[in-house]
Amino acid sequence: MTMNKDLAQTLAQRVERIKPSPTLAISARATELQAQGKKVINLSVGEPDFDTPQPIKDEAIRSLQAGHTKYTAVDGTKGLKQAVIQKFERDNGLHYQPNQILISCGAKHSFYNLFSALLNAGDEVIIPAPYWVSYPDMVKLCDAEPVIVKTDRSESFKMSPAKLAAAITNKTRIVILNSPSNPTGLAYTREELKALGDVILEHPAILIASDDIYEHNLWKHIPFVNIINACPALFDRCVVINGVSKAYAMTGWRIGYAAGPAKIIAAMKKVQSQSTSNPASLSQDAAQAALEGDQTCVSEMRDAYKARHDYLVAALQQIPGMICTPSDGTFYTFPSIEGLLNPSKGITNDVEFAEFLLNEADIAIVPGTAFGAPNHIRITYATSMDNLKEAVARLQHTLEKLTTR
Ligand code: PMP
Ligand code: GLU
Repeated sequence: MTMNKDLAQTLAQRVERIKPSPTLAISARATELQAQGKKVINLSVGEPDFDTPQPIKDEAIRSLQAGHTKYTAVDGTKGLKQAVIQKFERDNGLHYQPNQILISCGAKHSFYNLFSALLNAGDEVIIPAPYWVSYPDMVKLCDAEPVIVKTDRSESFKMSPAKLAAAITNKTRIVILNSPSNPTGLAYTREELKALGDVILEHPAILIASDDIYEHNLWKHIPFVNIINACPALFDRCVVINGVSKAYAMTGWRIGYAAGPAKIIAAMKKVQSQSTSNPASLSQDAAQAALEGDQTCVSEMRDAYKARHDYLVAALQQIPGMICTPSDGTFYTFPSIEGLLNPSKGITNDVEFAEFLLNEADIAIVPGTAFGAPNHIRITYATSMDNLKEAVARLQHTLEKLTTR
């Protein structure tokens, strides 16, 4: 019998439909080049450059020494769930019971659990673009269809009620909202969220996934509001997803959480119980310390991002051909580079532009195509002011090559 070993390596269609996370891939490439000795400035991945605050690390050490090294309840420790409930009361004025909370291995995992629990083949999920890179592919992993609603700079990259209404069909199951937004850095106002909420109220089968992960990285349109604050009637139709990665510089600890209707949370917990079980016990104790401890570190980091933002956006606005809108929060800016494309130099789109910057200026950024918005780039300013100044100097120097025709 002839053996074809390729046959045994046939992959599932669901894997063939998706690509790896581009933000993580570009960052890995930047790290690789750095390891080869290149002085690459990595402005690609969205990850705080700060170390996790010491009191949070101390708690993890205490937890380890106390022997918290076993499985915990699938949905998280009692202590962390209680801390999450108190966080929602303190920061968001929202009241949840323990059976409405699920702790997972990062907000990314919370989304994966939500989509797995809710979506059937052919179901549609409305995703406003520019979007965080993982939403469409995670929807596809669950055999459902991402429905992309394009927005542009003239509307501050925010989905209007009319565009939302036009995208809804009888197959729509979920609408995703992410404010402040990765990648644009812009946030919806209470009035804008209320107007979107009014559209959704007319469609009882639709659930909202509110991605609040950048809640604390906000300096405009404060205090932070999500769609439930703007439209309380949607409380039972919303799953709020958040986590400790961005607010407490804890990306590697992998703790995120979801809050929503008990039935949906129970289904998400069932999925989690058959995949990862509980998130890491030590990380849960550390996350509890983060949420319960002194919150000064959160505002200190936010103020640093704001100062870097102010410097960077002002500098980018001086670069001929680049259009850059100030962010309301996050640690991203999302300029248009359409005016810098130069076919005579072989740069016809944002992907080639990103490649050009990496090769010519040793700067890693993410092309807008990854976020569903070609001819833009995402620049992360979760890096030191020194790095940003050096990056701006390199950009000014290198981009001159594109503007001289
Ligand atoms: N949502 C958005 C918009 C993000 O930018 C990120 C960052 N990776 C996440 C969710 C997931 O974060 P984490 O899994 O680290 O909690
Ligand atoms: N959210 C971050 C980013 O957009 C982390 C990378 C990822 O999870 O894809 O860069």
